[in-house]
Amino acid sequence: MNGPILVLVDHHAGAVAGTAHELLTIARAVGDGAAPAVVWLGDGAPAALDDLGAYGVGTVYVPALDGLDPRVAAVAADAVAAVVAASGAQALLFASTYDNKELAAHLAVALGTGAVVDGTGLERRADGALVISKTVFSATWTTQCVVPAGVPLIGLKPHSGESAPAASPTAPVVEAVPVTFGPGARAVRVVERTEHHTAGGRPDLTEARAVVVGGRGTEGDFTPVEDLADALGAGVGATRVATDEGWIDHSAQIGQTGVTIAPRLYIGAGVSGAIHHRAGMQASEVIVAVNTDADAPIFEFADLGIVGDLTEVLPQAAAEIRRLKAAE
Ligand SMILES: Cc1cc2nc3c(=O)[nH]c(=O)nc-3n(C[C@H](O)[C@H](O)[C@H](O)COP(=O)(O)OP(=O)(O)OC[C@H]3O[C@@H](n4cnc5c(N)ncnc54)[C@H](O)[C@@H]3O)c2cc1C
Repeated sequence: MNGPILVLVDHHAGAVAGTAHELLTIARAVGDGAAPAVVWLGDGAPAALDDLGAYGVGTVYVPALDGLDPRVAAVAADAVAAVVAASGAQALLFASTYDNKELAAHLAVALGTGAVVDGTGLERRADGALVISKTVFSATWTTQCVVPAGVPLIGLKPHSGESAPAASPTAPVVEAVPVTFGPGARAVRVVERTEHHTAGGRPDLTEARAVVVGGRGTEGDFTPVEDLADALGAGVGATRVATDEGWIDHSAQIGQTGVTIAPRLYIGAGVSGAIHHRAGMQASEVIVAVNTDADAPIFEFADLGIVGDLTEVLPQAAAEIRRLKAAE
């Protein structure tokens, strides 16, 4: 329990991802006052030092990638394993994204330890163990998980905590780490990559602080849903009915067979709240439902329910939000 808490920092075009700020804040809170360390995969670490220092980082470990692409899970696993060994880390925190969960699976095997992914909170128990909260069974139960041996690999969902800069900024030290890559890492060569852009530059569903979701009640017209999302700066999601009907791309589907989200604010419009949908959104902090049917199941677990027609309620909400923003 002596080594630092290591945080895998996701970064895009040199900018530290918002989820990394949340993880660094959590790492400080559970780290008994010790500065968290960072593993940085790829280029760009020097330009991020001020940002990382603002969050109290002590050391930034940069594994030598030998020309390999760290977006290949086997490459990232060898690189992160080398940093875990070099830093003597007591735990690794990472954002619970698809890519990082694949990395965690490789890493758990390589290090002979356990990985807990899709966590929603992290605390230090009196005996020193790191306890991860995690919802299961379609978000109907909250469990507490501990990795009893080895270096725990802990994946937390976006918005598992608020991000707050450290009281005293640090001047992080960059340390290069040599890596011995195995045959698995060298077996894959990335020949082409096409970045997926969400429609209209809206935030990614899993990272968005607010998500507006349209269901069958939209009858195929997502205009009011998208307009409210844009007023809020929110992501746009959908039920399976809406994606199966072809009203919106399948990547927008939220639920058991779609994306799992846990935003600060979920607004469901024309969504009944079926168990399969609920499985992917119940961990949202505040749930707002707009439905013409006062007996719709979604009202049983919504924090705020509006019985009304979405084509009337959503435009009014969007107009009021725009008015308030303009008055700020
Ligand atoms: C194995 C399996 C996996 C599944 N996985 C998923 C999944 O991942 N995600 C998912 O979403 N579903 C999933 N489903 C489907 C799920 O069971 C539901 O059928 C689906 O979520 C219902 O979508 P909905 O709420 O849009 O439609 P409905 O249940 O038909 O509800 C539409 C709602 O809109 C309301 N409404 C109608 N008009 C208006 C209006 N003008 N204004 C306001 N409200 C209005 C109605 O009162 C109604 O409550 C799965 C099903 C199975 C069997």
